[in-house]
Amino acid sequence: MNVSAQVTVKCPRCDACAQFHEPFAFLRAAPAGQTAIAWGGWFVVERYPDVLPWQAPKGRSGQYLVYGGDDGRGYAVLHRGVVDCRACMARFVHELAWPDDLWWQWSIRGHLLWACDRAQALQILDYVRATDRPARSVHGPIGSLPSVFLSAKMRGAVVKAMEKTLAAG
Ligand SMILES: [Zn+2]
Repeated sequence: MNVSAQVTVKCPRCDACAQFHEPFAFLRAAPAGQTAIAWGGWFVVERYPDVLPWQAPKGRSGQYLVYGGDDGRGYAVLHRGVVDCRACMARFVHELAWPDDLWWQWSIRGHLLWACDRAQALQILDYVRATDRPARSVHGPIGSLPSVFLSAKMRGAVVKAMEKTLAAG
């Protein structure tokens, strides 16, 4: 599965910084020494079998991985998962509200900029700050960065807002 398996979020219970985990790994081959459930051409491994066991989406046509929200036609990745919070010592099932739940987010002149984790935020900051920017690749956080944040007018505000938060946490 070529997607990050976790996202840094604001804990829905205590507002501290916590991790939201995709509860399943989708593998193309049966893993050795691990229990996996065959589904839609994948081998599904449960990462939190005690908290959130695998349940195949209903319907015969629903054997797909869906990205970017639950459209009822497959399994939505990074949608319903497990929050692991060290502040309130809780591990519980949560439906990710995207992008509201994200820990790394900035509202800059009416536009919302977000990152899945600190590493991604630093990557974005580096790119925005650079005066001589390399071409954007389609994939990854830079590729999906709305171009409004790359305009010369926005650059200073973006860098200032991101530097402030990243320095604090
Ligand atoms: Zn918490």
